[in-house]
Amino acid sequence: MRVNIDEIKEGGLQRAWDLATEVVDEMVKGDNAGYRAKSPFHVDARLTRMERRVLFEGRARATLAAPCGRCLSPAEVEVPVDIQMTFVPDEEVRTRGEDAEDDRPNTRVKRRFAAEAVNEETYSGKVIDLHPVVREQLLLALPGYPVCQEGCKGLCSVCGANLNERECGCDRRVLDPRWAGLEKLKKP
Ligand SMILES: [Zn+2]
Ligand SMILES: [Zn+2]
Repeated sequence: MRVNIDEIKEGGLQRAWDLATEVVDEMVKGDNAGYRAKSPFHVDARLTRMERRVLFEGRARATLAAPCGRCLSPAEVEVPVDIQMTFVPDEEVRTRGEDAEDDRPNTRVKRRFAAEAVNEETYSGKVIDLHPVVREQLLLALPGYPVCQEGCKGLCSVCGANLNERECGCDRRVLDPRWAGLEKLKKP
């Protein structure tokens, strides 16, 4: 997903990519929920340019599967990803960095700078790579706890049966050890 900024003319540039499932799998590999791509990831991009700053507006929708967080059967999720990111040439950032560099401790300056630049990425030369931004925004958009269905009943904590399929009849009342003493008192 590389764009040469010279390709971005006055009316902006429209581009689209279909990322193969292996590419998407690689993108989401670090996520704890264990997502895998179900289909190619379609990314629509619009790029507009002001001098050397480039605004990237992206729309994408990923279809992924992961084990359900309650019952472990496959859960499919559609993840919409909307991106608005400004790419700033790194020489501009360097000058700005020098301005911010006064006698304050380094860390504070850096933190303030980071807060200003939430929707900014830097690039050098003439080529912008959208891949890291798309990856980062996809990871942020992933549900942390995918479920196969809204009312998934999960697995029985005693025998492990899938409670969506059958009621096993186990006694699943969990006794909090802190109340166990009281439970004893209540009994005659
Ligand atoms: Zn489930
Ligand atoms: Zn059971």
